[in-house]
Amino acid sequence: MKPARFDYARPATLAEALALLAKPDTAVLAGGQSLMPMMNLRVARPARLVDINRLPLGEIALGNGVLRIGALARHAAVLASPLVAQAAPLLPQALAQVAHAAIRNRGTLGGSLSLADPAAELPACMLALDATLVAASAARGERRIAASAFFHGLYSTALEPDELLLRAELPAAAPGWRYAFLELARRHGDFAMAGLALALGPGAARLALCGVEAGQRRQPAAEAALAAGDLPAAIAALGTAEAMDSPDLPAAQRVHLAQVLLRRAFQQIGAAHAAA
Ligand SMILES: Cc1cc2nc3c(=O)[nH]c(=O)nc-3n(C[C@H](O)[C@H](O)[C@H](O)COP(=O)(O)OP(=O)(O)OC[C@H]3O[C@@H](n4cnc5c(N)ncnc54)[C@H](O)[C@@H]3O)c2cc1C
Repeated sequence: MKPARFDYARPATLAEALALLAKPDTAVLAGGQSLMPMMNLRVARPARLVDINRLPLGEIALGNGVLRIGALARHAAVLASPLVAQAAPLLPQALAQVAHAAIRNRGTLGGSLSLADPAAELPACMLALDATLVAASAARGERRIAASAFFHGLYSTALEPDELLLRAELPAAAPGWRYAFLELARRHGDFAMAGLALALGPGAARLALCGVEAGQRRQPAAEAALAAGDLPAAIAALGTAEAMDSPDLPAAQRVHLAQVLLRRAFQQIGAAHAAA
């Protein structure tokens, strides 16, 4: 199918892009890997597209203990970045499992976070890494949103229709912290049936799932048990996850997969953590 008719603009400056976004029924076009299929299927029918690919929003930089990743940073660039490997080693683990090379060459961090697909890897990573997301609009300027407040559920975020996501800011990996991203998918590169992002530090843990619940959130009960080194209690806590249910993957099975992944992740980094 072809998309419905739409107007198209490719601004060269952020101010121009934000002014265009202030018009109703306008969508941002980043990598187009999700938006274009949705438009072709007519699930999305924006009247206007603002193509942000000319904006300087692809930078990856590390300074003052904070890793900044621009919204237009392609999955492939984030995956290959030595700065990311150093400061946020969870991200390459996750991105290696996102789609295929052709899609990773176009798909962007900002597109994935703004879409908030419940099976996507990057929202779970932002939660486990305690990221701050920075957005801007013409009317209200910039604002900073904690990842825990950014994701509002199935394909829903804190972004207002006139807002552009500019970048993610992540505290750089601190000494003593270890990270694991694990997922199970039917074929490599498929969206996760269940996935898990875990950050484990001295007496602290941050845990988020993907492909399990419809919304993206941290798992405080499991985190508290992990922080205390109690893996069985953490696994039991995941049993209360409000899992999505579908004929091909019932809710109970998604929860079971998440519990299996948590055991593997803890065995992978928890043992090393205890020995450190
Ligand atoms: C075959 C296939 C397999 C895939 N597998 C996976 C997978 O395993 N895991 C995974 O996570 N993803 C997967 N994807 C999706 C892929 O990662 C997309 O790149 C991503 O979801 C969207 O990024 P994009 O840059 O292409 O965004 P676009 O498609 O351009 O935009 C997506 C949405 O975000 C909005 N948007 C984009 N950028 C911004 C911004 N800066 N500010 C505000 N709104 C914005 C758009 O308006 C649109 O609503 C797959 C895609 C395909 C086609």
